[in-house]
Amino acid sequence: MDFNLSPEQQELRRRVREYAARELAPAARDIDRHATFPSDLIRSMAENGLLGLPFPLEYGGSGMGALGYCIALEELAKVCGAAATINLAHVMSSFSIFLFGTQKQRMYYLPEMVKGKVLGSFGVTERGGGSDLASIQTEARLDGVEYVITGQKSYITNAGQADLYIILASTGRAKGSGGLSAFIIERNTGGLRLGKTEDLTGMRGISIGELTLEECRVPKKNIIGGEGDGLKVALSCIDRGRVAISAVGVGVAQAALDASIIYSKKRSQFGRSLSELQAIQFMIADMTTEIDAARLLTYRAACMVDAGSRFTKEASMAKLYSSEAAMRAALNAVQIHGGYGLSREGPVERYMRDAKALAIMEGTSEIQRLVIGRSEFR
Ligand SMILES: Cc1cc2nc3c(=O)[nH]c(=O)nc-3n(C[C@H](O)[C@H](O)[C@H](O)COP(=O)(O)OP(=O)(O)OC[C@H]3O[C@@H](n4cnc5c(N)ncnc54)[C@H](O)[C@@H]3O)c2cc1C
Repeated sequence: MDFNLSPEQQELRRRVREYAARELAPAARDIDRHATFPSDLIRSMAENGLLGLPFPLEYGGSGMGALGYCIALEELAKVCGAAATINLAHVMSSFSIFLFGTQKQRMYYLPEMVKGKVLGSFGVTERGGGSDLASIQTEARLDGVEYVITGQKSYITNAGQADLYIILASTGRAKGSGGLSAFIIERNTGGLRLGKTEDLTGMRGISIGELTLEECRVPKKNIIGGEGDGLKVALSCIDRGRVAISAVGVGVAQAALDASIIYSKKRSQFGRSLSELQAIQFMIADMTTEIDAARLLTYRAACMVDAGSRFTKEASMAKLYSSEAAMRAALNAVQIHGGYGLSREGPVERYMRDAKALAIMEGTSEIQRLVIGRSEFR
């Protein structure tokens, strides 16, 4: 078992770390404070090859696989969780086309998505439910050479900003989740409207909101896979998304730890630096250990993706542990910073708000426990 990253992966980490310090750091606080969608950063992430990391060279990607992508996401999330999450939602939508699209769909969309010319979004959740995919009410009916899609989606990252939406809809209600299908819907399609945008407490820059589809007509060729393949498309992308979110969790947790170490060295109470107090050292020790565990779970799941193994359980384990470890790390960071920890002047209260979002998106912690538990009784 080799725990070392290859020279190429180490170089990727160095390059993304420098990029994040240069481009994301000056903007991260304002993105959060004003809930600004960072269109310019998406362009710069694309220019720096950060939207195509897991995809092969033939589509304009850099072939760094899931592990390379996780290394990069961790560095982005350390500085700006929202930018990392926007990247992830875009890459997930790209994955649905890469994994299940026709060669024509891949060649048409992927190079533009990798270049950031077409921003993607992935729409599964509805007002009636996010955890239970079988309850999806959005319906697609075939009418000649078009599908007519009607429904509503909620909590969709990149909503209103994306050029392309991957939408899960039912083409056969009687079949439940077996009757779901996935569609590519372009931004200017008639009947597609942005509904309410959410004012979240965490990940505030991601432009998250509702989509309304009213008799939205999309060409038949925009189905991904075939009728009834929707669940397979969604779950494959969600599993990959869970590995990627784990990396975002590692990044947020590492940022909380780094800030806590710096602060506890600078701040003195009772004539001693906080860093000399055992109570503080114990919190730092817990954070360090949990971040390492989260990173190892994430990298293992990513290596399984790259090896072509089954990784559903390992993705859920990484996502569950990493998102919850990020929350614990952020709470410790707030505690170590004292009153300043809750001040919006400092960075750590943002980590706490961002970390909470990670335990809900891409399936809540309870859903991850269901997946892991079920797999143990199979
Ligand atoms: C920041 C953020 C970004 C998001 N981005 C997207 C996106 O891009 N695309 C998209 O489609 N969705 C997105 N979502 C939605 C997200 O996937 C859902 O919020 C999530 O799946 C939970 O669904 P829900 O909100 O409907 O909660 P519910 O499903 O109503 O769950 C409510 C509570 O009940 C628990 N629960 C539900 N079922 C069970 C069960 N069987 N056993 C035990 N407990 C259960 C849940 O764990 C949770 O605690 C995003 C959400 C957030 C917060």
